[in-house]
Amino acid sequence: AVRELRRRGYGRRAHAMLFPFPCSGHINPTLKLAELLHSRRVHVTFVNTEHNHERLLRRRGGDGDGALRGREGFRFEAVPDGLRDEERAAPDSTVRLYLSLRRSCGAPLVEVARRVASDGDGGVPPVTCVVLSGLVSFALDVAEELGVPAFVLWGTSACGFACTLRLRQLRQRGYTPLKDESYLTNGYLDTPIDWIAGVPTVRLGDVSSFVRTLDPTSFALRVEEDEANSCARAQGLILNTFDDLESDVLDALRDEFPRVYTVGPLAADRANGQAAGLSLWDEDTACMTWLDAQPAGSVLYVSFGSLTVMSPDVLAELAWGLAETRRPFLWVIRPGLVAGGGDHHVVTNALPDGFVAETKARCFIAEWCAQEEVLRHRAVGGFLTHSGWNSTTESICAGVPMICWPGFADQYINSRYVRDEWGIGLRLDEELRREQVAAHVEELMGGGGGGDRGKEMRRNAARWKALAEAATAKGGSSYRGLDELVEQLRLGQ
Ligand code: UDP
Repeated sequence: AVRELRRRGYGRRAHAMLFPFPCSGHINPTLKLAELLHSRRVHVTFVNTEHNHERLLRRRGGDGDGALRGREGFRFEAVPDGLRDEERAAPDSTVRLYLSLRRSCGAPLVEVARRVASDGDGGVPPVTCVVLSGLVSFALDVAEELGVPAFVLWGTSACGFACTLRLRQLRQRGYTPLKDESYLTNGYLDTPIDWIAGVPTVRLGDVSSFVRTLDPTSFALRVEEDEANSCARAQGLILNTFDDLESDVLDALRDEFPRVYTVGPLAADRANGQAAGLSLWDEDTACMTWLDAQPAGSVLYVSFGSLTVMSPDVLAELAWGLAETRRPFLWVIRPGLVAGGGDHHVVTNALPDGFVAETKARCFIAEWCAQEEVLRHRAVGGFLTHSGWNSTTESICAGVPMICWPGFADQYINSRYVRDEWGIGLRLDEELRREQVAAHVEELMGGGGGGDRGKEMRRNAARWKALAEAATAKGGSSYRGLDELVEQLRLGQ
C-alpha cells in the first residue's frame, strides 16, 4: 500500500502539469496560478503549444527567453498544436485550433509528463496532477492515462460557469436555438430566466452569447455545453473569483461540485514570479510614460481583449464617441481587432479620417499594453471593456469602474453583474452609438470625478478592491482556497 501511495506521489513533492487553451485569456490566469503553486512548493511543468512557445520567445523587449528557460521546480514544455499556418489566419481559427488540439495533443502531453519525470536529474518528482483550463477537456483523458487526478481552472466568473452549465437545459427546453433572425431583435432575448441556481433573474440574452444561435447544430453551443459539463469528471474545479464577490452562485456550485477552489483574483502582484509577466504580444511601454503625464483619474482606458473583432463601421462609431468626450483616453487597437485588417498598418488605417488629427492631444493608441499596470496607474479613472473575465477582475483589483460593451461568451453575464450586482459599471447597448459612448463616459468620469452615479460606482469599486485584497491576503478566503488546493494536489486522488 505504501508503494502504491508513493507511486501516486503521496509524501513527495506535488508536481502539477498545467496546460491552458492556447490564447491570452486562458494562458494569463493559468500562468499566475502556476506561479502561486510554485511559491507553495509545488513542482510545475507548464505546457504551451509550440506556436505560442516560439511567440513568447520572440517577444521584443520582454524577457520571454529568460522566463521560458525556467528555474528550479518550474519548467516550460511545448507540444505541437497540429495547425497549419494558413489555418491560423482563417476566420474560424479558434474552432480549428480547438479541434486540432483534441486530435493531436493527447499523446504528446502524456509523453511530456513521462519524460520530465525521468530526465535523470533526480530532483523531478513524477507528475502528480494535471491542471487544465476550459476548452481542453480532452486533457482529462491525459490525466486518466497517467493515473493522476485532473483539476480544471475554468477561466470565467462563477456566474459565467453556472450559466454555461445550464446551456444544455436551455437547449432541451427550446429556448435556443432561436427560431429565426427576428428573435435577435424582437425582445425575445429579454425573456427572464429565473431558474439558474444562485444566479438572480437574468435576461436570456445575458446568460451566454451562445444562446443567440439560429443553427440547430451549432458547434459553439455544443462545445460550451460539453466543456462545462465535463468539469464533473475532474477532481476539482478552480475558479478565478473570490467568495464575497459571488457568494450565492458559489454556494450553488458547491452543492453540485464537491470540490470548488476559489483562488482569485489571480492578480499579477500576488503571483509575481517571472512567468506571470509573460505575454503573447509585445507591450507598448511608451503608453506608461504618456499616462505619467496625465492628471489622476482623468484617463479612460479602452480595450477589448485578445479575441474581439469589430467592423470598421463600429470602430468608427466608437472612435467618434471617444472623440466627443474631450477626455484623455488610452486605446488598445490590437492587430486583428478590425475585421478585414490583418496587420497593424491596416488597423490604424481603419480609423476614420480626421480622427487622429482631432484627438492627437489627448489620445494614445497602443497595439497592446501591460494592462494590469495600466489599470493600476493613478491616471486611469475608467475602463471601457468587452467584459472578458480577466479584464473584469483586473479592473476590480485596481478599483477602476467600467463601461461594458460585451459581445461574446460569458461577457454578457459578467457585465450584468458589473452593473447590477456590484454597482461598478454602466453598459452600452449592443448597437454601439457614439452619443451613448460619450454620455456614458461623461456619467462615469465627468464633472469633477463623475456625476452622482459616477461617484457611487467609484466608491463601490474601491470597496470591491478592498474585499479582493482581503480575500487574497493571508487568512482570506482565496488564500485558504489556494492552501486547500495545494493540499489536494499533494494528496492526489
Ligand atoms: N491584455 C493585455 N494587454 C492588452 C489587452 C489585454 O495584457 O493590451 C490582457 C488582459 O490583461 C487580460 C487578457 O489580455 O489578462 C484578456 O483576457 P480577457 O479574459 O479579458 O479577454 P479575452 O481576451 O479572453 O477575450
